[in-house]
Amino acid sequence: MKHLLFLLLLPLLSACSFRRIPVYVWQGWDDSTTAATLERDFREWQSHGVTGVCYNAGFDVERHRTAAKIAKNLGLEYHAWIPSLTQSGMDSTWYTVNRLGESAYDKPVYVPYYTTLDPHNPKVVAWLCDQYGRIADIPEVDFVQLDYIRYADVILARGLWDKYGLVMNEEYPKADYCYCDSCVADFRRLSGVDIRTVPDPSKVKDWATFRCNNVTRCVNAICEAIHARGKKVSADVFPGPASHAEWMVRQQWQNWNVDAFFPMNYNDFYLQPAEWVGEVTDEAVKAVAHRDAPIYSGLFICRDWKNKASVVDPEHSGLVPLEIRTAVLGSLKAGARGISLFTPRDMTPEHWAALEEALEEARRGGL
Ligand SMILES: [Zn+2]
Repeated sequence: MKHLLFLLLLPLLSACSFRRIPVYVWQGWDDSTTAATLERDFREWQSHGVTGVCYNAGFDVERHRTAAKIAKNLGLEYHAWIPSLTQSGMDSTWYTVNRLGESAYDKPVYVPYYTTLDPHNPKVVAWLCDQYGRIADIPEVDFVQLDYIRYADVILARGLWDKYGLVMNEEYPKADYCYCDSCVADFRRLSGVDIRTVPDPSKVKDWATFRCNNVTRCVNAICEAIHARGKKVSADVFPGPASHAEWMVRQQWQNWNVDAFFPMNYNDFYLQPAEWVGEVTDEAVKAVAHRDAPIYSGLFICRDWKNKASVVDPEHSGLVPLEIRTAVLGSLKAGARGISLFTPRDMTPEHWAALEEALEEARRGGL
């Protein structure tokens, strides 16, 4: 009898005293992935407090079906995390063209995978709606998650300048997109300006806005297609929007009809301390305060944390265990609904312990 009473009261007790703070992870399918490794990994992450997975298997329907089923069986939320505008092997006319007239199709900037499609091209938008739609049709998929939903970085994060041997005090012509015939003609029709004849296009504010609007229209078309299927959309965005995303990659993401934002608040990319995570989260929360769309603060984890001082590449740097508390509590105090970890495989036992302590402190503090 006592047991029965306890069981009856349990849901009530847990609802009152224990709010689960959403914790997501970003991870992708690799050559060794099987249903068994997925189940093992998902269970392990869940044991550390993870509540949802952002899983990248490209536009492969069967892989997402497998991963999403396992996630849902365990009670995890499933975001099908898929790069949007970085695609290879599509029609050559679908790619962005830079200020020098070079196409990302065969001359991508920075790295070989920066083969970026043109969000202004209606064929690109229709193709993305169709691809994401096929993923959203999988019953166990809760969200499709848009990544690389942006132009190439016309200015790189400060911490990456040395890596690519660049000083980026102004917009970088090789990474400044898109000057294809269609974009140029459309902008001339709207503004009367032939942007190819302007000596410094970075000074033309309307030209920047035109490209921000191209991304926004592309995103909102995808949202419409996914919402029509009764599913939701999340998006991985640059920090900001005004402080970084807008002028680095043309994301005015406060205007997007997505249901959850995952700003990549990767402080080491910007040569900033862990305290900065709370500051940019505050900006993000205020930017979407007019909408019911949660912010999940994206944190970049340093696996080789004992040697962080000697790590020069920000893409191998990130938060050490001692910084986890500052980043997590800073995000939650600023109004983030939860956090997301890039990546769970970089989380050492010390990181997990620090995360569990920070989440417990947040719960005690009513965050
Ligand atoms: Zn174009």
